[in-house]
Amino acid sequence: MARESKAAIIGAGPAGCMCAYYLQDKLDVTVFDFASPLRTLLPTGGGRCNLAYAEYDFKELAKNYPRGEKFLYSVFSKFSTADTVEFFEKIGVKTYTQPDNRIFPVSNSSKEVRDKFLKALNRVKFKKELVKQIDLKNFDYVIAATGGHASYSLLKAHTIIPPKPALTGFVTKERFPAGVSLKNVSCCGFKDDLIFTHEGVSGPLIYKISSVNARKEFPYKIFLDFCGDLDLQKLFNENPHKSVKNLLSEFVPKSFVCSLDINHDEKCHNINSKQRDKIKNFLNNYEITVTGVSKKGEVVTCGGVSLDEVDSRTMESKIIPGLYFCGEVLDIDGFCGGFNLQNCWSTAFVAAQAILSR
Ligand SMILES: Cc1cc2nc3c(=O)[nH]c(=O)nc-3n(C[C@H](O)[C@H](O)[C@H](O)COP(=O)(O)OP(=O)(O)OC[C@H]3O[C@@H](n4cnc5c(N)ncnc54)[C@H](O)[C@@H]3O)c2cc1C
Repeated sequence: MARESKAAIIGAGPAGCMCAYYLQDKLDVTVFDFASPLRTLLPTGGGRCNLAYAEYDFKELAKNYPRGEKFLYSVFSKFSTADTVEFFEKIGVKTYTQPDNRIFPVSNSSKEVRDKFLKALNRVKFKKELVKQIDLKNFDYVIAATGGHASYSLLKAHTIIPPKPALTGFVTKERFPAGVSLKNVSCCGFKDDLIFTHEGVSGPLIYKISSVNARKEFPYKIFLDFCGDLDLQKLFNENPHKSVKNLLSEFVPKSFVCSLDINHDEKCHNINSKQRDKIKNFLNNYEITVTGVSKKGEVVTCGGVSLDEVDSRTMESKIIPGLYFCGEVLDIDGFCGGFNLQNCWSTAFVAAQAILSR
């Protein structure tokens, strides 16, 4: 393909820049952004940049996307975790995998990732501009990589699934001892760690729930299970002289136990079966009323360009030929763990390959 072909990429976030990387040798590429390129990469992973997740089976990987799973099969079959790691190695970013399978740069620095990535975009022109209209007259290809936060008005020919925040903490009706964290709490089919905050609950478990419930109307109730199928009677038998309060504080904050309608200073051997069942039910079904999402922490957008109007083999619009999409502008979002950046890398690669093969 002659380098006279021109591509305009709107948005210099991870998706737009990845697409620019793969197009730059064959096309005349201009990336438009009203702000500095790759600035949205800097806060990722708490400044460490969680680049991907070490799941190498693409169908398994796609299961981590409450929106987009099926659409991503074809995308991930072309560019997945191994390709991401290889790409970053190629531009000089060595990576490592944490025990929890999250992949980070060895430097643990999103700034290093940004700097090396920008250096690798040496044939790309960056233009600081707020794009107000998509113009296919001056370019052969336009790639919309505008992310999940704004600029849907640019895409009015498309159906936009209304944006909602996901991967958030929750504001709750109840007040909790802020800062207390609990391991392996179950709720809504997930089991993970939970943190109480001054406004409600947060942590990996809550991020997942906020993701699957992103479209649910507030308020709603969730039920926390702190102990699963623990044999409480056995535990009482093993700790006959401990007070209920001290024993249960291994599972929940002491203040929770005090809210239970039993004598919490009672020794375990004095607890009768009725009281035991009450405690077990309390530990298995702790009710919380979610009233909204927290404004703090990591947020991705559930919603965006409807996947029905995008060809998953090429990322091209089914409505406007020559217009392509990649990244969070699409109605795709994943859990915490590197999945959202993986969506950017993969959809950007597929868009670029489709353009190059035309
Ligand atoms: C605090 C935080 C931490 C995160 N950490 C991680 C993590 O560790 N791992 C992970 O996988 N995901 C993480 N995410 C999610 C991830 O950052 C996003 O999914 C990703 O940045 C989306 O990339 P994108 O290129 O699609 O969009 P964006 O990063 O939003 O980039 C879009 C770009 O388009 C520009 N733009 C928009 N409209 C226009 C317009 N009209 N004209 C010109 N320019 C325009 C914007 O200025 C922006 O630079 C995190 C998110 C947050 C908020």
